[in-house]
Amino acid sequence: MTVTATMRGRFAPSPTGEMHLGNAWAALLAWLQVRAAGGTMVLRMEDLDPDRSRSRYAELLQEDLHWLGLDWDEGPATGGEYGPYFQSERTALYQMAFDRLTAADLVYPCFCTRAELAAAAPHGSDRETPYPGTCRNRPGLPPNRRPAARLRVPAGIVAFTDQLQGEHSQDVAAEIGDFVLRRADGTFAYQLAVVVDDAQMRITHVLRGDDLLVSTPRQLLLYRLLGWEPPVFTHVPLLLGEDGHRLSKRHGDVSIRSLRQRGVRPETIVGSLATAAGLLKAFRPLPASELIARFDLAKVKKQPVIITGESWRRLLNG
Ligand code: GLU
Repeated sequence: MTVTATMRGRFAPSPTGEMHLGNAWAALLAWLQVRAAGGTMVLRMEDLDPDRSRSRYAELLQEDLHWLGLDWDEGPATGGEYGPYFQSERTALYQMAFDRLTAADLVYPCFCTRAELAAAAPHGSDRETPYPGTCRNRPGLPPNRRPAARLRVPAGIVAFTDQLQGEHSQDVAAEIGDFVLRRADGTFAYQLAVVVDDAQMRITHVLRGDDLLVSTPRQLLLYRLLGWEPPVFTHVPLLLGEDGHRLSKRHGDVSIRSLRQRGVRPETIVGSLATAAGLLKAFRPLPASELIARFDLAKVKKQPVIITGESWRRLLNG
């Protein structure tokens, strides 16, 4: 008999603004994957960035999730075995992982200024430029300012199989370069924090928007260097407006709160998102709980999902 460990999934929003349709889409699909498997859902607030995170947004996010009919078993107010569930309260855990990497001689201080980094980027390039390794072997005395800390990225390809997107690989050293683990202001970087959190919270399945696909090889590298088992990854396509651009304010106010204030029902939002995802053949309003039995990753679209005029009208007219 094989014993299958219970699936543990999470939704990890950054409380830097109001929850919008794009967040609701990722939250709904992450929640469905876990609930359909009878697993445990974790809510984690990624409030690492002290300049942009607000506790008010964390409260609103939780309210909006409840309103949409999405619940969780462990999280900020609920608690749980692997808390705290705010990244801002988990610094000691990030420090431990950082110290282990430092002890293995995988971390070095970086004194580059923003201006130096910008100067290293080719003109007109809108792609992320790999860090040229300026500080890897910086000779002489370091400048008199607080350094960031970068990972000494080993050469080699990082490959993995995404549950939706299939095979994916990246040469992290060549395409990204030595990336930041801790900012000069002492804040740990998302890439390190998310790995520490998902590992410590025993997350087995990560489902998130495919804007983060580009981060996954960096995270897998950290799992490897820290000797931890990585979760299974699923990157779902982003929601786009009819003009083919990522859904944003320019398409109208897409915050859940404003839709709610206009009298839109949660069932309408859930039904629209489920139809867009490919989980419903034809739109009908329905509560999130009724989708659990219908969830099938094989049905979920791999291509960017366009919110059509028709679904907009439905959302805006309630
Ligand atoms: N906090 C990230 C965001 O809101 C998500 C991180 C993740 O799911 O790994 O974009």
